Amino acid sequence: MDMSPALVPVIGLEIHVQLKTATKLFCGCSAKFGDEPNSNVCPVCLGHPGALPVLNKKAIDFAILLGIACNSTISGKSLFERKNYFYPDLPKGYQISQLEKPVCLGGYIFAGDKKIALNRIHVEEDAGKSIHLHDGTTAIDLNRSGVPLLEIVTEPVICSAAEAVEFLSSLRTIVRYLDICDGNMEEGSLRCDANVSVMPAGSGILGVKTEIKNMNSFRNTEKAINYEIERQTELILDGGKVTQETLLWDPDSGSARIMRSKEESNDYRYFPDPDLVEFSISGEWTEQLKMIMPEMPRARFDRYVKDHSLSPYDAGVITQSRELADFYEAVASITSDFKSSANWIMTDVLRLLNERKITVNQFPVPPEEIASLINMINSGEISNKIAKMVFDEIADSGEKAADLIERKNLRQISDSAGLEKMIDEVIARHPAQAEEFRAGKEKVFGFFIGQIMKESRGKANPKLVNIILSGKLGKSAVGN
Ligand code: ADP
Ligand code: ZN
Ligand code: MG
Repeated sequence: MDMSPALVPVIGLEIHVQLKTATKLFCGCSAKFGDEPNSNVCPVCLGHPGALPVLNKKAIDFAILLGIACNSTISGKSLFERKNYFYPDLPKGYQISQLEKPVCLGGYIFAGDKKIALNRIHVEEDAGKSIHLHDGTTAIDLNRSGVPLLEIVTEPVICSAAEAVEFLSSLRTIVRYLDICDGNMEEGSLRCDANVSVMPAGSGILGVKTEIKNMNSFRNTEKAINYEIERQTELILDGGKVTQETLLWDPDSGSARIMRSKEESNDYRYFPDPDLVEFSISGEWTEQLKMIMPEMPRARFDRYVKDHSLSPYDAGVITQSRELADFYEAVASITSDFKSSANWIMTDVLRLLNERKITVNQFPVPPEEIASLINMINSGEISNKIAKMVFDEIADSGEKAADLIERKNLRQISDSAGLEKMIDEVIARHPAQAEEFRAGKEKVFGFFIGQIMKESRGKANPKLVNIILSGKLGKSAVGN
């Protein structure tokens, strides 16, 4: 029997986040995605000799914001360096990036309940984009050249593909809450490179890693990491050795191919960019940004569980996006009924969002209207069933809930005198059933409830009907 310990995976991620600044990192060109190719370019981002870069302060703001959200240390002094390499989509022959003094050091992000330690968050410019055409030629779009990116580098502490995806998902939620990146992996505004190695369980020495690139979705990231863990495990069990290299994931074949053997950072001949001096990040600058920080998803989650008594599941779903959480809070702040407000978000709001494939910002029913429905249910003015019906109708028409209820006369009948009269009539009309009930056939109670609801066209207050009917038939009230 083989007694050697099992091999366990170790993963570290390098994630590029494209910042939602209006302009590029070192010039005034628009950073917008999807414009006519090569329309947002100038001498700076085309790499013309002698053109001088001017730093976009907004990009540093965004880096600091993310650093605060991740409990990173914000560097007092930061610096841009040139990372030299040749590639057709890199007109300058170097990328302006950060090596020695990134804006943020350390910190962590939760993947589920596990803190994943960060090594750094640095700022750099994006390269252009090569577009491979059908006729075999390649065109270059330099609109993306110089667009600001944050690179988030984790320590090698992630233990599975699933955990890596949980991390990515938390990071995406955070950058969306901060409104610094749209988090769209398909469009490339969130890009993940995964470093993967395997080592004997319990060993403190990391194995040789490979880096996989080009996963454009959470699903592909998970698949690619699992593919690479399996490949390395089999290789080692067969007596082979992993070689350090960069692999390109091919989503169509579900496999990876070698892109290049791994370069060392000294291959890039990093050196400080002489056109960009070292800059200071004062405590005051960081403090000012702290003041405009929105509440982060994790803090909201804790608050909803602790102060609103929501279940962790509900709190998790509601805090998935800032817009949804804001919507929930707008409803809850009016109703003060956290549970019902959460239920409406979890069922009716999410259902409609899915059905119509719209975002929270496009939601047709304002939170005030949902709050008004909840309040009317709680005060006994309308039944739950009527409320759901009204919701569906105003989602189409845009009418106000109260107006529709007034117009269609949907208010619950809660005046006991009126109900009593109606109930007397119903009992009088069905003497045989009343007799049966009094003889002990309890089931007939439901028959009477049905008749009364029908008579009232669904508007009789069910609690009151229950109490009055019980009294009339000589029975202790059922349920509540
Ligand atoms: P390199 O010098 O090759 O760029 P770094 O030390 O800068 O390597 O780390 C790059 C990324 O690779 C980080 O996310 C880090 O966590 C991860 N990493 C480093 N060593 C390993 C390893 N042995 N296995 C898995 N991931 C690793
Ligand atoms: Zn430009
Ligand atoms: Mg490195």
